[in-house]
Amino acid sequence: MYEYDVAIIGAGPGGYETAIRCRQYGLSVCLIEERELGGTCLNRGCIPTKALLHCADKYHSANTPSCGVTCGEVKMDYGQMHAYKDAVVRKLRSGVEALERANGVKVMRGRARLRDAHSVMVGGETVTCGSIVLATGSATVMPAIPGIESGRVWTSSDVLTKDTLPERPVIIGAGVIGVEFAAMFSQLGCQTVVLEALDEMLPMLEPEIRQALEASLQANGNVRIQTGAKVVRVWDSDTGVCVRYEQDGAHHTVEGDVCIVAVGRKPYMADLGLENAGVSTERGRIPVNGRMQTNVGNIYAIGDVTGQVQLAHAATAQGMVCAAALAGRELSTEAAAIPSCIYSSPEAAYVGLTEAQARAGGKRVLVGRFFTAGNGRSLIEECAVGLAKIVADDATGEILGAQILAPHAAELIAEITAVMQCEGTIDDLERTVHPHPSISEMWQEAACDAFARSCNAMPKKRTTEKGKG
Ligand code: FAD
Ligand code: NAD
Repeated sequence: MYEYDVAIIGAGPGGYETAIRCRQYGLSVCLIEERELGGTCLNRGCIPTKALLHCADKYHSANTPSCGVTCGEVKMDYGQMHAYKDAVVRKLRSGVEALERANGVKVMRGRARLRDAHSVMVGGETVTCGSIVLATGSATVMPAIPGIESGRVWTSSDVLTKDTLPERPVIIGAGVIGVEFAAMFSQLGCQTVVLEALDEMLPMLEPEIRQALEASLQANGNVRIQTGAKVVRVWDSDTGVCVRYEQDGAHHTVEGDVCIVAVGRKPYMADLGLENAGVSTERGRIPVNGRMQTNVGNIYAIGDVTGQVQLAHAATAQGMVCAAALAGRELSTEAAAIPSCIYSSPEAAYVGLTEAQARAGGKRVLVGRFFTAGNGRSLIEECAVGLAKIVADDATGEILGAQILAPHAAELIAEITAVMQCEGTIDDLERTVHPHPSISEMWQEAACDAFARSCNAMPKKRTTEKGKG
């Protein structure tokens, strides 16, 4: 009776994988996208930023004499870095296109607007469908700061589309985007100032991880982070752009060649016609239940537009729950541990609760730490500033959360995520044999440390009954 079982609006990591999973369940699918397949993540987010970070890391390594290697003249061609990033994006994008084709997903190009709960308008055409999945993502928040409309004020997308490197960027916001750009600019030698309104950057990090990350970001003198700095005005100067901020009751002005806004992203649902289908919104987002259903039974929402965690892998995970629900199966997001990463240098990553959050929840907790300074592979890779921290339930040993600042932290957090997903304990982790030398040994050492029995850290007093065993 309908042309398609499911119409999905938005082909980001939420929408494009949901389309394929729905096909695997035997549903007919129409995927509607007004821009490029892959969404923000592939075209303006995760992938291009990490490609540029990789280039910056290479340049920085070549330019930093160490362990007996000194390069001659090291040249940087930012235009070529930019082209390299674009080539990676193009390759992955053509992969997504091929996957949709091979799975029999009908891809429609154009801007979609709901006509009612069973039909979507795309250009002049109307598509009818049994169910609709809203996967329209998010957009940059532009704060109401006088002067912010200046052409010298860039969003993260602008940074990624320009093939010139700013020399003195001023970044507003020390969130994930601000910190990752600061890490990249710093490695490329740009004098970078980061202004953060809160008293501390990245409040979701454990204090000791945050402090180590902040110190490592500022270590080469290219980055200055000002916290408690509320930006009040921006204006063009003869040589660039001035940014005025208020800190401790005083006003200060900093000048850069560009100002980059990174103060958060908001769910994107402009002109989506939600009212035509009776879909409710709440504080600028589309609320959903555990099966990703909106208030309208056959309309689902996934990813950034739901205003929950704004991460590509979270959007995909929600999409898998949604596809299962559409196919009449059950798959719950509730148990899923979602890791988060900050691609600084070194990287930081975390999953689950911090120690403070676990204690605030009324739990007695076991805490273990291990430092990169005691880990062979980290030292070989010239990283002495990081640490791993694990928080577990003292009564059951269940791992409640973990954080790490170390080389390849984004890879390493997957281990703890898997242990948490399988409801493993800190005892399981302590008994798990890890390869040597590897950075992953830090997890096992942190687990041993929780029982005061790491053989690679200085002796410490045992604090729990279990630890005395
Ligand atoms: P999106 O990827 O935003 O896709 C939504 C799609 O819907 C878009 O293609 C849009 O064109 C389309 N669309 C919207 N409205 C319509 C309409 N009416 N009709 C047709 N099409 C429409 N996350 C990570 O996990 N790791 C990272 O390293 C990371 N880095 C990031 C770096 C930056 C600079 C930014 C900005 C974000 C980053 N993110 C990262 C976040 C990540 O990109 C998002 O969480 C993720 O893309 C959300 O996926 P989504 O499918 O919900 O939406
Ligand atoms: P964010 O929420 O992480 O950080 C925004 C920061 O800006 C906050 O610290 C906030 O206090 C500060 N801020 C807000 N207004 C300000 C003002 N007027 N002056 C100074 N500071 C101000 O947002 P983001 O960095 O824009 O990132 C958006 C989303 O993108 C994040 O939620 C994240 O999930 C996602 N992302 C993820 C990754 C990753 O997974 N590695 C990378 C980039 C982005």
